[in-house]
Amino acid sequence: MGAREIGDGDMCVWHETETKAAGGAWTAIRAAMGGAGTVLDPEDEKAFGTAVDRTLSDLLPALGPLFGLAVVVFTVWDFWIAPARAPLTATLRLLLVLAGAMGYGHWGGRLSAPVRCALVYISHTSAMILSAALLPNGLVLALPAISGAMFLLALVEPRLGRFFCITLPPMLLFMLLGALELSQPAFASSMLVHAAMLPLAAAVCMTQGRWRRAAFLGERALAHAAHHDSLSGVFARGYLVELGNHDVALAKRHGRPLAIGMVDIDYFKRVNDSFGHAAGDLLLCAVSKACCAQLRASDYFGRIGGEEFVCVMPETTEDDALACAERMRAAVAAIRIETASGILGCTISVGIAALQREHADFDGLLAAADSAMYRAKTSGRNRVVLAAPRLCY
Ligand code: GH3
Ligand code: MG
Ligand code: MG
Repeated sequence: MGAREIGDGDMCVWHETETKAAGGAWTAIRAAMGGAGTVLDPEDEKAFGTAVDRTLSDLLPALGPLFGLAVVVFTVWDFWIAPARAPLTATLRLLLVLAGAMGYGHWGGRLSAPVRCALVYISHTSAMILSAALLPNGLVLALPAISGAMFLLALVEPRLGRFFCITLPPMLLFMLLGALELSQPAFASSMLVHAAMLPLAAAVCMTQGRWRRAAFLGERALAHAAHHDSLSGVFARGYLVELGNHDVALAKRHGRPLAIGMVDIDYFKRVNDSFGHAAGDLLLCAVSKACCAQLRASDYFGRIGGEEFVCVMPETTEDDALACAERMRAAVAAIRIETASGILGCTISVGIAALQREHADFDGLLAAADSAMYRAKTSGRNRVVLAAPRLCY
């Protein structure tokens, strides 16, 4: 299969839908930005979750200490309300913040970002609630700060389920201590205010979640548009060269085989002249699809020019690459497209170059494959020719 999986799940697979219009990707971007695409399918939601966790992991070292500092600095407020209790509340605040500080750092990935976030939020909010409960009427006075912390969480966690799970333990603690400490009217009114804040914070979580999902989809659509050829759906030149450079460097470093094939459609200009450009476009897509179908999952295929394509075959010897190219040649020769002007078909000429010590980089390999393809043209077309190492440069 002519596919290669990239980090974000991006794949160079020939998609029928991608050939519909050159502006297909832009339609997707507009839909995403317009909000129509903010409900993600399970696969996308998983990828979105991974991206959110990455952001959370990056934010925690900055936001966590700030939150912790605020919780500890609020000891000044404790001194103002009840100086006698302040040493106790200061110790409590400090101990809980120190326990939660474990969530600030990455620690080599031993704790996941959601666990770190929950650790910081629950410990720090509990420090606020417990120290407030030690002060006379403290739970009522600290209510704005305790409720306000929910909004901080709502700003960094766009997944509603996670948001509720993390806010629940401190909320239960607040209810429990409130029931024990406060008079009935004070308890009822505090609960009411705190409970009213929860849906508001949840609304913030949902709204920023919607924006972030839209941005996520938009970014993905942009990356797809940048990486893929808008007509055929296979990799675009820039992306193919980027991947090729990486794979050639890797193969050279580990002394592993790698081969590439330069594919050029024979007499394509005649197709356009006889059948029209639209039919020529259809043929370009059909050739891409036929070639991709002959490749392995670890191989990839891209369009580098008008009717020129390149396939990169990592971990592939010269002989295997020749066999693969021969399959591509036969598959393309079998293409038959019915058009108003008759049956349309074509052949390809393929130049194969296997990585040698003389090839400095991907460009060197590409030049070798190109000269082999040129020889395939001059020796009659519809054939596969192997680059001779001495002709590489
Ligand atoms: P050869 O066998 O020597 O490769 O001959 P050729 O006709 O295939 O090569 P030539 O370079 O003379 O012509 C390539 C043609 O490909 C010319 C150009 O109009 C056409 N072409 C390039 N890009 C596209 C495209 O996106 N769509 C269509 N329909 N035609 C394209
Ligand atoms: Mg050609
Ligand atoms: Mg050409």
